[in-house]
Amino acid sequence: MSKAIYPGSFDPVTNGHIDIVNRALKVVDRLLVAVIGNPDKKPLFSLKDRVRLLKESFKGNDKVIVESFDGLLVDYATKKNVDVIIRGLRAVSDFDYEFQMALTNLEMCPQIETIFIMTDPKYSYLSSSLVKQLARLGGDVGRFVPPHVSKKLIKGRK
Ligand code: ADP
Repeated sequence: MSKAIYPGSFDPVTNGHIDIVNRALKVVDRLLVAVIGNPDKKPLFSLKDRVRLLKESFKGNDKVIVESFDGLLVDYATKKNVDVIIRGLRAVSDFDYEFQMALTNLEMCPQIETIFIMTDPKYSYLSSSLVKQLARLGGDVGRFVPPHVSKKLIKGRK
């Protein structure tokens, strides 16, 4: 059975992330969605909330496991017996950072491959930051995130 890991901040999960998970499941049997506990960016949502929002998004799908981790991704992937990392690519602006990360991970851990899935064009502009900004300014984020995430963003605004 093939298993991959999809790491990220997921602050919060968006429809773009959900699309990548569903499409990754066309090529792997199980996907471990791993929320980074120590991102450089200061997250809006706590680690616990980010995990909870993801779990709710994939409720009933036993092919998706949601966990959080600290430290090096390759160490965590090795511990979990995963040898494929999934990342999503939107525009060229993602490329530099993703290229650097993938090559660094390959250097540290040659048995782990990074596989990129291209965004669906309808999500190419969508990011967690955009959603947070929109929510802060009172915009309707309903078309960009699942309803439970939208509800949480609205609650946080009050
Ligand atoms: P990170 O902070 O690690 O970049 P994110 O939660 O922002 O975490 O993103 C996790 C992964 O999902 C990254 O590979 C990112 O490029 C990808 N991703 C985010 N939004 C989209 C989207 N709209 N379409 C495709 N991939 C996306």
